[in-house]
Parts: sequence; C-alpha cells; structure tokens
Amino acid sequence: MKCQRFLSIPVSAVLLLMGFVYYITVFVFIEDWVGLQSSAGSLNALNFTFLGFLCLVSFSACVLIDPGHVPPSYVPDVEQSRASDQEPNKNGAQPRPCDKCFTFKPPRAHHCRICRRCVLRMDHHCMWINNCVGYWNYKAFFVLVLYAAISSIYSTVVLISCSFQKDFSGRVPLKMFYVICGAGMIGLSVTFGTLLGWHVHLIIHNMTTIEVLGPNMLKWLCPTAVSHLKDGLAFPISHDSL
Ligand SMILES: [Zn+2]
Ligand SMILES: [Zn+2]
Repeated sequence: MKCQRFLSIPVSAVLLLMGFVYYITVFVFIEDWVGLQSSAGSLNALNFTFLGFLCLVSFSACVLIDPGHVPPSYVPDVEQSRASDQEPNKNGAQPRPCDKCFTFKPPRAHHCRICRRCVLRMDHHCMWINNCVGYWNYKAFFVLVLYAAISSIYSTVVLISCSFQKDFSGRVPLKMFYVICGAGMIGLSVTFGTLLGWHVHLIIHNMTTIEVLGPNMLKWLCPTAVSHLKDGLAFPISHDSL
C-alpha cells in the first residue's frame, strides 16, 4: 500500500472529475428533474451515491494495491515450464531473464519501465491510477471500469430525462451547460463502455492487453500492426519489450 501514489496530477484529476460528476448529477440534474425532496429524487440520489462510493473504493484499491512483484527468491522451474503447454516461452522452455532487474521473470510477468521493476501478470501501466495494473489489482481495475461505466450511463440517462422536461426558453447559458455536460457524460459512457467490453473480452479469452495488442505500445493504435499474432490457435505471451 502506497499512499504517495495519490500525489499525482492524473490521480487528482480523476478524483476531481468524480466529485464534479457526482455533484452535477445529484445536486443539479436529479434536483432539476424530480427534486431531491421527492421519493424518486431521494431514491435516485441514494443509488448514485452508492455507485459513486463503489467507484471511489475501487479507484483507491487500484491506486493503493501493489500489482505484484517478483520475489527475490524466485527461481524458474525449468521442468515445469517444459511440461506446461499453457505458457510457452519464445525460446521453448528457457526461463526468461529481465535484463533490467537481473532476475528471472515468471510467465506473464513483464518489466514496467515507469515502475522500474517486473510486475506479475502485468496488464498495462495506467497513468490515471499512477500504478501498474497487474496480478493483485486487476480485479479492482476491472470492477472500477464496470462501476464507472454504470455510473456514467446512469448520469447520462438522468441528464437526458431532465433536459426533456426542462424549459430552456431564454436561458441560453443554462442550455449550453446542459449540452456540454451531456456531451461529456456521453463521452465518458462510451469510453468506459468500450473499455469494459474490451476487458470482458480479455477475461473470456484469458489474455492480458499486451498479449492482444502486441508488445510495442507505439503500434497499439495501428489496426494492421499484427505481426506479433501467430496462427490464432495458440496465444504466446509477449516478452521483454515492456
Ligand atoms: Zn524487470
Ligand atoms: Zn508500472
């Protein structure tokens, strides 16, 4: 657990964004839509507060939980890796050394250049949590994406419902505020929805992002950079590039 990971601009920006979305959803949109004093208003406010709490808890877990490091005593089991057909190495059954940490890497571990160490079952380094997503905090990361997607969609639905019944005549600044917030919330919903679909796909196929997108981060956005893919029947794990 490392509290100083919270001391970064992207992490602070995420916390500010969460606070802002919570505030406008509950105290502006739900209030304008049905009123916080009504039973529908208080029920929606309660639902959204619960979702916000889940997001905050899973976000904090992502930031604080150590993704997993290779124990100094780790010695690769050559016999076992030779027998295993699930984690084939590039050089057959050869153990993979890390030339930066000067230790061996277990299967699915990768070296993170930002964390400057090898991370167990590394998925990717996420600047928004100022931490790697790895073996121990992948679950927290996945549920964070899930809760963030649900919260964004919830907020978007409340905003749209509210704007349909609101009279904006002669109130251009208020209308602009609704339009900008609506565009932002739809953007967040699409982003988290896509990320969620992607990680559901990865979990179903038991792969990490590096295994799917390839080891070269510069090529991740290029749809035709698929030289790392084999015949599609077996999925080797990527190696020393990260
Ligand atoms: Zn390393
Ligand atoms: Zn990292």
